[in-house]
Amino acid sequence: MPLRLETELLHLRTRHPFIIARGGQSEYRTVMVRITDNDGVEGWGEAAATRFYGETLDTVQAALLTYAPLLGEDPFQLEAIERRLELTLRRNAAARVAISAALHDLVGKRLGQPVWKLWGLDAAAAPQSTFTIGMDTPEMIRKKVGEAAEYPILKIKLGGDRDLELLRTIRDATDKELRVDANCGWTPVHTVRMLPVLEEFGVTVLEQPVTPDDIDGFRLIRRHSRMPLIADESCVTAADIPRLVGAVDGINIKLAKCGSLREALRMVAIARAHGMMVMLGCMIESSLGITAAAHLTPLMDIVDLDGAALLAEDPFIGATIAGGQVQLPDGPGLGVQRR
Ligand code: MG
Repeated sequence: MPLRLETELLHLRTRHPFIIARGGQSEYRTVMVRITDNDGVEGWGEAAATRFYGETLDTVQAALLTYAPLLGEDPFQLEAIERRLELTLRRNAAARVAISAALHDLVGKRLGQPVWKLWGLDAAAAPQSTFTIGMDTPEMIRKKVGEAAEYPILKIKLGGDRDLELLRTIRDATDKELRVDANCGWTPVHTVRMLPVLEEFGVTVLEQPVTPDDIDGFRLIRRHSRMPLIADESCVTAADIPRLVGAVDGINIKLAKCGSLREALRMVAIARAHGMMVMLGCMIESSLGITAAAHLTPLMDIVDLDGAALLAEDPFIGATIAGGQVQLPDGPGLGVQRR
């Protein structure tokens, strides 16, 4: 009997509206994928659609309908199944990664081992995760910094028209390490002008200041920058890495961009071969999606897995970033349970 795929809509709400350079919201809907084998063993995954990468809730559901009959009978055929999905319907990374995560979960459960162990990783090697402070008024920023007391490293979203005010407000409120993500909101020239300002405020990492295709812009900025430059929107899959070599210091891998846990592993290997740093990011998603990513954290230099920590309520229990430290579950597969 072929593997069976079912979906369930998840309604998520962030504690505060989450605002970045492209806008923001507080209500999110994601899709939970359940894949069941002949013996009734279930694997779970989550699809967090991002409009910026061309996906919506509707496209995710349509893509999952297309993918469901292609799973075959053997969940251990991970490479072949993922290849089949990609060749049948390209892109749709959030939909595909929900299946990839569910298959890895299922395989881990069949073998009785957590995914990180199957990959030969040391759970204790995961770096600390940042916690993101989205754009807001000075009063709200101060409130959010207070709420983030347990997290040792903060990530700030810049690229709007009140960047300096935001930097000043946060720096006045805390002396923690700060990392900046401008989400394509700056020009290369403006970024070069901002570099000494960021340094003055103690910023240690700069993520995606320029638009996705502005690789020359990245090169210009890198000639002036002492802090590592990370490509996020410019680096969707492994195929994007070669053109970024020499233009950035590292890449931000996200499952909802690359569409597969195996593709994420390939991205790590390719980036490392080019001497680049690897960062792991996320979307706003529950602990189901976050945990699928968390299994990769021992391979990373920089981790930003706060998607579930930003939620008012989380329907799942899995990996956590309590106190900033990534804690991987010990249970088989992804190790995620319903709350
Ligand atoms: Mg980013």
